[in-house]
Amino acid sequence: MQLYKDQTLRIHNSLTGKKDIFKPINEGHVGMYVCGPTVYSNVHLGNCRTFMSFDMIFRYFKHLGYKVRYVRNITDAGHLENDADEGEDKIAKKAKLEQIEPMEVVQRYTVDFHNTLQLFNLLPPSIEPTATGHIIEQIEIIKEILEKGLAYEANGSVYFDVLKFNKDHDYGKLSGRKLEDMITNTRELTAQDEKRNPQDFALWKKAEPQHIMRWPSPWGDGFPGWHLECTAMSTKYLGETFDIHGGGMDLKFPHHECEIAQAEASTGKSPVNYWMHANMLTLNGRKMSKSTDNNIYPAEIFSGDNNILSKPYTPAVVRFFMMQAHYTSILDLSDEALQASEKGYNRLMDALDSIDTLKTGDTSDFDVAAWKQKCYDAMNDDFNTPILIAQLFEAVKHINLIKEDKEAISAEDKEVLASSLKAFVYDVLGIENQSMTKDDSNTLNGVMELLIDIRNEARANKDFATSDKIRDQLIELGIQIKDGKDGTTFSVN
Ligand SMILES: [Zn+2]
Repeated sequence: MQLYKDQTLRIHNSLTGKKDIFKPINEGHVGMYVCGPTVYSNVHLGNCRTFMSFDMIFRYFKHLGYKVRYVRNITDAGHLENDADEGEDKIAKKAKLEQIEPMEVVQRYTVDFHNTLQLFNLLPPSIEPTATGHIIEQIEIIKEILEKGLAYEANGSVYFDVLKFNKDHDYGKLSGRKLEDMITNTRELTAQDEKRNPQDFALWKKAEPQHIMRWPSPWGDGFPGWHLECTAMSTKYLGETFDIHGGGMDLKFPHHECEIAQAEASTGKSPVNYWMHANMLTLNGRKMSKSTDNNIYPAEIFSGDNNILSKPYTPAVVRFFMMQAHYTSILDLSDEALQASEKGYNRLMDALDSIDTLKTGDTSDFDVAAWKQKCYDAMNDDFNTPILIAQLFEAVKHINLIKEDKEAISAEDKEVLASSLKAFVYDVLGIENQSMTKDDSNTLNGVMELLIDIRNEARANKDFATSDKIRDQLIELGIQIKDGKDGTTFSVN
């Protein structure tokens, strides 16, 4: 169904600073590139939020009936520790630390990345290319930029000439920075520096003899600069100009600014029509950071094994929590916020579980068609998921009133309500209904309470044969009973 023909979608475009009406280059098709992870450690929860935001955007385009080619790369080489083209390669450094081959680092953390995103119910992208798989394409782009005179070679490395590029182009247009200000605010180059200007960035870095990740090139053995891979892979799979480029807010400068410069220098064309940036996640009001311990990994949330939250939360609840904020707003994760989301999630799933069995009448007290359009209006306004979720709860309110016989709904409206609610919750927001597992755990808790009661009665009656039988057989099932001051508890191994 080509729903997009009836909907006007507006996207906040970082390039224009406005909400622009979305018009794809090819009707009915969307080309979208999102900067993927550098796979040198377990995926960070903040990164999960970014990828989840673009997953929701990918899902909404698909829901509207677009054919979407969604490319999200894996950075498995070339990402140095600091933005000034200095420091070690992040992956090579980790390999040295763990005494393994760099590609083992890449494999280990790519698997972790995929597993975690799958738990959060993210759809796989259409293409997931790697930097190391596109070295030849990257070398070709460097040659083109050198031919145009916008890069220079120095001692086996190649740098992009930002000052020269800026004469005919606008370096800083995405991030709103002025080159003159950048020049005033940067330190002077020292005599050892290979760069002509501190603003220049590496397209190719010479590999020192001890550097394992290296490839031959016309300038000697080396490795590509980090910004270049995204230009190479986005151009290869989406064309010289494509619809949407996304990433985290922190990538706007220098990474995305450099991508624009590389593409304009090599093809003469502006590479992207809509630049989209997702905002960050904080924890208890502060920036997440491994060094200050204000940090939590997805696995720690699901298992409850952490010092920050009072209990475990399921991936579906965490996803629902993330969707309750607009992707361009900062979102703060806390125990209270997750508890509130869990309640909301359960109410929403209860409504979904009962919607198909709602009694129908001749008329409806609820304007379902108007409600449905309000859901689309929310999503069409730059993917406003918090407004959409408020509309979903409007539907939940009516579903509960219908259940209590305080309102009526016609059979026709019930169909529309059920299909729309399911489409927005499951297909667009990507929230899974895990109420089955919720029911299972409620049942287990009930059965265990009963068994503990029987065992306590047996013990009070000095019937130790029965009480021991219950305890021993539960152990065989992997359930441990513990008698404490506050009564008997159990744990499942
Ligand atoms: Zn990128």
